[in-house]
Amino acid sequence: MDHAEFARPVLIDGLWRTGESGRSRPVIDPATGQTLVVLDDASTNDARAAVRAARRAFDDGTWSAVSAQAERCAVLRRTADVLLRDRETIAEVETLDTGKTLAEARIDVADVVAVLRYYADLAERPGDRVVDVGDPAVLSRVVREPAGVCVAIAPWNYPLLQMSWKVAPALAAGCTTVLKPSEVTPLSTVLFARALQEAGAPAGVVNLVHGSGAEVGAALTADPDVDLVSFTGGAATGTTILQATAPLLTRVALELGGKNPHVVFADAAGPDRLDATVDRVLTGVFLHSGQVCSAGTRLIVEESVADRVVDEVVRRAEAIVLGPGLEPSSEAGPLVSTAHREAVQRYVDGAIAEGAVLRCGGEAPTDPRLVAGSFYRPTVLDRCDREMTVVREETFGPVLTVERFVDEAEALRLANDTRYGLAAGVAAADPSRAERMARGLRHGTVWVNDFGPYTPAAEWGGFGRSGHGRELGPSGLHEYQQLKHVWTHSAAPPAGWFGRGSDE
Ligand code: NAD
Repeated sequence: MDHAEFARPVLIDGLWRTGESGRSRPVIDPATGQTLVVLDDASTNDARAAVRAARRAFDDGTWSAVSAQAERCAVLRRTADVLLRDRETIAEVETLDTGKTLAEARIDVADVVAVLRYYADLAERPGDRVVDVGDPAVLSRVVREPAGVCVAIAPWNYPLLQMSWKVAPALAAGCTTVLKPSEVTPLSTVLFARALQEAGAPAGVVNLVHGSGAEVGAALTADPDVDLVSFTGGAATGTTILQATAPLLTRVALELGGKNPHVVFADAAGPDRLDATVDRVLTGVFLHSGQVCSAGTRLIVEESVADRVVDEVVRRAEAIVLGPGLEPSSEAGPLVSTAHREAVQRYVDGAIAEGAVLRCGGEAPTDPRLVAGSFYRPTVLDRCDREMTVVREETFGPVLTVERFVDEAEALRLANDTRYGLAAGVAAADPSRAERMARGLRHGTVWVNDFGPYTPAAEWGGFGRSGHGRELGPSGLHEYQQLKHVWTHSAAPPAGWFGRGSDE
């Protein structure tokens, strides 16, 4: 890793600087516990300066003007090219910082390239609408304009990917931005901002600050020069941000957590389908060691096949090869930190105390190769019920809970019995049942006989307490736009309301 790139990690008005807080924090490789690099925290003054730079860059109109659309799209496409050129370096940095496997980090980089290109293409199509008001002399248009200065705050699990879901549509729309990555995994966002700058993003259009949410994040969200805060992270932080922005009535977009069900019907667990169904259950919950907002952590399985499905899930979960993400043999990496592993352990211990049956995992591995890292064994908890904390709250670890149902109505009721509503999966051979379930599930994404894929062209977001608004797809661009109605009359007669004196 090139440490020089991180010596001046703060970008304000086109200049890379050290953070002015006088504090720095180690960025840890969770696979080894070693410090990768020590990064400067920005000060609240830095945060203010970054917002001011974004404000100036927006207000001078060069970037935000309608006429600059082609240039904005060109910057996004060139950024995609820079990321492709540097993809191995970026993927390695993401792996070292988050712990995810290199194969997963490579997919993240490819997905970021795809989202940049998607929004470059989408923004080139005019989004204006002409409204027929029944008078040929009137041209009534609803036009889309940039929302303004956007603060983008991202979590630690998909640092680069989540940031790109905000930055690509924001820049395509003509907004200017201040990026605040998670203080736990800040490195790939430095590389992303460098790529945007190399691709021609003008000074002030992309600014980057680092530091804790409580200090730097809070300074950004309370800044009166900010027009929109786009946040991805935990529900509690989402509430704090809503409170912080309420006095100013700043627009807020929230992508929060999930407690995602994966419903398996008996006809998806026959001899011809069991293998594929179990494969999807495993992928759904154990990818990135369960640190995925849309992880399928609740297996809701039909009673008649439950033992068969769970036995097979357990057999294969026990065989998952843990290891540092850079080692090609590793199938799953560590949790992001030892503190997070302790939180996951508390959920598992609590579940066992509440009556869940531990079928595998439930502890850190003892392999000497792994003890310095924050690894956690893939865990299956059988005989769970909806009252248990582990079934209701996000564990954000490799923990699968198992609930059983006897009929479709019960399956749907259990799957919808969550205050979240981000994503859900259904494994069913009967297409009409699968369709009934897909329509009945109160979740923002439903996968049928699959689990996990998404496309930049389709909206992503949650029902319930999983958030407000949508990322990706056309709605993901609309988040960063304002609507304006322009009424043009070519020969307006006098309205005649006033100035006629009395006709009486
Ligand atoms: P978090 O809420 O702790 O932190 C997210 C970001 O918010 C970080 O950059 C943090 O510094 C910042 N922050 C914290 N307090 C703040 C404050 N008061 N003001 C402004 N910013 C503040 O979340 P996390 O632990 O980094 O990420 C995990 C969470 O993210 C999980 O709940 C997960 O489900 C969610 N997530 C959701 C999606 C989605 O698409 N819906 C995607 C990924 C992660």
